[in-house]
Amino acid sequence: MQIVITGGAGFIGSNLVQALAEQPHVTRLRVVDNLCTGDKANLAGLDVDFFEGDVQDAALLDQAFHGADAVVHLAALPSVPRSLQDPLASHHANATGTLQVLEAARRAGGPHVIAASSSSVYGSNPHLPKHEDLATAPMSPYAVTKLTTEAYLSAYHHSFGLPVLPFRFFNVYGPGQRADHPYAAVIPKWISAALSGEPVTIHGDGTQTRDFTYVGTICHVLIDALLRRVVEPRPVNLAFGTRISLLDLIPEIETATGRLVRREHLSDRVGDVPHSQADSSHLRALFPTVAPATLEEGVSATVDWFRTSVISSASS
Ligand code: NAD
Repeated sequence: MQIVITGGAGFIGSNLVQALAEQPHVTRLRVVDNLCTGDKANLAGLDVDFFEGDVQDAALLDQAFHGADAVVHLAALPSVPRSLQDPLASHHANATGTLQVLEAARRAGGPHVIAASSSSVYGSNPHLPKHEDLATAPMSPYAVTKLTTEAYLSAYHHSFGLPVLPFRFFNVYGPGQRADHPYAAVIPKWISAALSGEPVTIHGDGTQTRDFTYVGTICHVLIDALLRRVVEPRPVNLAFGTRISLLDLIPEIETATGRLVRREHLSDRVGDVPHSQADSSHLRALFPTVAPATLEEGVSATVDWFRTSVISSASS
């Protein structure tokens, strides 16, 4: 199998490339990435054809997609706050980028296209757990770009017969996720704070809940979908319905790091949803053999990665 991963130098992408490199059926891996948030160092030592550039570049995509059996489209500006600061940049990268990927897939003869959407599309709809049939209610420009991604995949399936599979990722965490930029996610930010003796910062009162998914579990599902060529034009939640409040996450991080943390409360963040929990019945029906890592296992593996890769490289 020849597989293209857009955004393959990023957090989820580089974990996927690494996991795919161990698959006997995968003969060639290609990555398209403009390195705006990703890093080529994430792919060090892996046998990958790297196409450096933007997913809005049709000629680059034609080269990368030539002869491909499948494309996993992960390239995007993946942040709600960033989309509030620069909505057009998010639209170009995420919505126009997806349209270019689908057009290139069509020109390349119709490889299997799996794409990353987001639980943010449920937005202000208060119903829990989030079932895929719920009305979407985006609260940020980022969420709109992800809803657009889903709509384009569905349209290309119905109009051109493209074999597609849009996944709604919830809060993904694990090794390789950066803590050192303004849009960092909560788990890497808090692990990094705990290990360096800084307080953890909580937006709001901390009772907001999230359905965290370990990146290794995401890779298992993506690989199973690729190898079995699972096609489903309707979006599928990729999370397992295990909801935890941010306040309850703190002891998990304290246990895994062996450090007690101080807490600092900041104001609520615009565009953040109060509660998030996936209804995973559709996912479990499509992928009955995938067993998710527990939060304890995932946080512990992430802390190990911070200790071996981030802290040791900063001190050397
Ligand atoms: P990331 O920022 O680590 O990875 C995104 C990658 O895409 C980076 O390597 C970046 O350089 C690349 N990229 C961005 N814009 C590009 C462009 N225009 N052309 C080419 N490359 C471009 O983010 P991630 O957390 O790995 O997210 C991967 C995907 O999953 C994104 O589509 C994101 O929206 C989605 N997602 C992530 C989460 C999460 O919790 N991490 C949740 C929901 C959805």
